[in-house]
Amino acid sequence: MSNFTIAIHGGAGTILKEDMTPELEQAYSEGLQQALDISYAVLEQGGTAVNAVKAALVVLEDNVLFNAGRGSVFTKKGVQEMDAAIMDGSTLSAGAVAGVRSVRNPIELAAEVMHNSNHVFLSGKGANDFAIKQGVKLEPDEYFFSQFRYDQWKAIRDSDNYSLDHTNHQLEELMRDKKFGTVGAVACDMNGNIAAATSTGGMTNKKYGRIGDSPIIGAGTYANNKTCGISCTGHGEIFIQSVAAYDVSCLMEYKGYSLEEAMHQVVKVKLVEMNGEGGMIGVDAHGNAAMIFNSAGMYRGVRSNRGVNTVAIYS
Ligand code: ASP
Repeated sequence: MSNFTIAIHGGAGTILKEDMTPELEQAYSEGLQQALDISYAVLEQGGTAVNAVKAALVVLEDNVLFNAGRGSVFTKKGVQEMDAAIMDGSTLSAGAVAGVRSVRNPIELAAEVMHNSNHVFLSGKGANDFAIKQGVKLEPDEYFFSQFRYDQWKAIRDSDNYSLDHTNHQLEELMRDKKFGTVGAVACDMNGNIAAATSTGGMTNKKYGRIGDSPIIGAGTYANNKTCGISCTGHGEIFIQSVAAYDVSCLMEYKGYSLEEAMHQVVKVKLVEMNGEGGMIGVDAHGNAAMIFNSAGMYRGVRSNRGVNTVAIYS
């Protein structure tokens, strides 16, 4: 039996203690712990890494505090368009969806794509049609609404600052201020199998069907039993350009780096050089976990059969 571990994140960004109330801090911590406990129970009962990461993400998607499923951010048009991906490191099979609406748990739809379609990545209306065909649970628009995300959107929706032009410092400040809130999970089960999953509403005020790194295999999500499982959060465009998650795997596979060394190289060196703010969580096939970010904070947690059980927010 191998060591089994689950690690989760609820997004990275300018998350500062001085901006937080004790109540909100507690609510975030409880949300993370609940996701850890439910997914850890899956692993403890001999469940697969795939089922554990899916279970963690369902809890986080259902929690309005996080930018995924219920509580997703608003697009320029004032709706929620969600992205999600899941990957099984034992087979390299993967499923992803982008720009879906009304789907209560986009990670379940991504898992349907992985298990029950001949494809890896579905988008927009087609993905929604597939959700209906598979009987995935749908919800009305009100279900996804949160006042907090609405107010964030209201503050920038009428500005010209709608694109992710990083020469635009005003936008940069806005984006920093708004934080990222994507959710993700990586797990290693007792058979040494690895999985990764990520789910997000993307960036506030996004338009033109913008899609970030989260549902892109290799960028925001990747799993391979030979190396690691990775889920990212941060400024998606840069994570796509740096193929961040797969880069960690490559450093391990081709250069012999440890999980921690590889993640450090990508997050603290490469992404910093590219001005890519954010972080990632990872596990390897021995059940080691790492959670590394270059922003002020990252909602995160880890639980393992070796007695680790922690949640944290700030650096
Ligand atoms: N990476 C996500 C995106 O760019 C955002 C996030 O991590 O919160 O869509």
